[in-house]
Amino acid sequence: MDGPSGTGKSTVSRRLARECSVPYLDTGAMYRAATLAVLRAGLDADSPAPEVVAAAAAAEIESGTDPSAPRILLSGEDVEAEIRGAAVTGLVSAVSAHPEVRELVVARQRELIADAVEAEGGMVVEGRDIGTVVAPEAALKVYLTASDEIRAARRGAQDRKAGRGADAATVLAAVRRRDHLDTTRTVSPLTAAADAVVLDTDHLSVDAVLDELRRLVGE
Ligand code: C5P
Repeated sequence: MDGPSGTGKSTVSRRLARECSVPYLDTGAMYRAATLAVLRAGLDADSPAPEVVAAAAAAEIESGTDPSAPRILLSGEDVEAEIRGAAVTGLVSAVSAHPEVRELVVARQRELIADAVEAEGGMVVEGRDIGTVVAPEAALKVYLTASDEIRAARRGAQDRKAGRGADAATVLAAVRRRDHLDTTRTVSPLTAAADAVVLDTDHLSVDAVLDELRRLVGE
């Protein structure tokens, strides 16, 4: 399940995984945890690339795969709340654009997917490059889209619920900035796989998207 932020990817991916009784992997959380490690090393957007890459590479990240209780640990510490904050969100696209960082994170993702396929028969994986790079052999690829304004409104509502309110214009600018970085990076830019089913969720509720996904899984 690929697509930009605010398309409802996480919500529908988790629900689909629960319904199909398979594990779930949030690959964005892995890049976010690597970014938190970069911040904790005292680095930022202006730091030299080799230092950023070294800090991300040294991060000990453990990804939970239970769709009912997604969990991400950095050096054994639960960092689920911290990785959703403004500091990580503002830096994650720059960190994930480093090819060396992607190589390490993608290798780990492929291990987790192989384990899940062997033990549970499958997995729902959400991210930006799952259909194109991480699992090009996936049985079903879905790319969720929605207009910038609707995605920003959904993101804003999510942030407010989590107590991280920002005004609508700021959220829209942040969403556009991250989209720009994610779609223009040199390695694995965000794009739909040629064989992905593209779902525009502008006028679709979560339940309607799930109905469509159930239909696609059943095909
Ligand atoms: O999905 P989420 O918003 O948590 O992803 C955070 C960031 O991680 C994205 O904006 C993108 O820069 C990066 N990412 C990525 N490849 C993935 C998943 C996330 O580059 N498969």
